[in-house]
Amino acid sequence: MLSIIIPVYNEEENLPLLFDRLYTSLEALKYPYEILFINDGSKDSSIALLTMQYKKFPDVTRVIDFEGNFGQHMAIIAGFDAMRGDYAVTLDADLQNPPEEIHKLLEALKSGHDVVGTHRANRQDTFFRKYASRCINFMRKIITNIDMKDQGCMLRGYNKSIVKRILASNEVHTFIPATAQSYAQNSIEIEVSHEERAYGESKYSLYSLIRLNFDLMTGYSLVPLQIFTLIGLLVSLGSFSIVGVLMYRRLFLGAEAEGLFTLFAIAFFLMGVMITGLGIVGEYIGRIYQQVRGRPKYSIREILEKK
Ligand code: UDP
Ligand code: MG
Repeated sequence: MLSIIIPVYNEEENLPLLFDRLYTSLEALKYPYEILFINDGSKDSSIALLTMQYKKFPDVTRVIDFEGNFGQHMAIIAGFDAMRGDYAVTLDADLQNPPEEIHKLLEALKSGHDVVGTHRANRQDTFFRKYASRCINFMRKIITNIDMKDQGCMLRGYNKSIVKRILASNEVHTFIPATAQSYAQNSIEIEVSHEERAYGESKYSLYSLIRLNFDLMTGYSLVPLQIFTLIGLLVSLGSFSIVGVLMYRRLFLGAEAEGLFTLFAIAFFLMGVMITGLGIVGEYIGRIYQQVRGRPKYSIREILEKK
């Protein structure tokens, strides 16, 4: 069976169209399926629409209603926890990932690939998002060793074995495509089409995007810390040679008191470097803290499903 997992956060305008296209394309697969909607604390009428849809198609629809907003990736984790299928396909609710592409992922999963990544053929997002995403992709490749063409496309397929390993990792902050990719034995990347968000705006603010990408960098690698140690070493070496030069001048040319502003500039630059370093250390400590605190990652108000 194929389990479709869809996080939903304030998507009332998109749901009716999504229902139409999704159920039609899944029926066309001629393959057993279930659809898991996770309502991630929506404040609009999304949950009412999902409930109606559940009542219409109780055999293939399940709805998990969260008690608050826990984020897209936690919603997917909840879907993984609950899924009954052998394969999982994740999908956005805003129709940016066309449901008509699911058959490509199912085929790849059936042919034995444990992770099916995707890249967006003609990405329909703002210029800023596309450009920022390219920079992050580039940095991720250097820092984390995880090889993906397009980390942001959430239309992805996973075999049950990978899902189990993701759940077993039990991380508080997780970026599912990256975790899956790091466990994959036999992954493949296929091209899927991409559409503009049908209605509404992206649910990610600039701040949450930045947070997500910090998690991506610090969650999968220690390179940021190591780079810092390296910078520290280089700076110390540089300062050491400057001390040498200054000593020489003091001893052989006499006392000097110029270059005050140069000194300021250097001092401020180094302070900036130090604060950044503290921040990076803080990112890791924050992750460790949240992980050891071990609070529940999400809480469920209600599950609508046929037993
Ligand atoms: N989403 C969610 N919780 C959140 C933010 C987003 O469940 O806190 C869902 C949202 O409803 C959508 C998917 O995650 O189905 C992708 O969100 P969005 O389209 O806003 O992201 P973008 O496409 O801009 O990256
Ligand atoms: Mg979107």
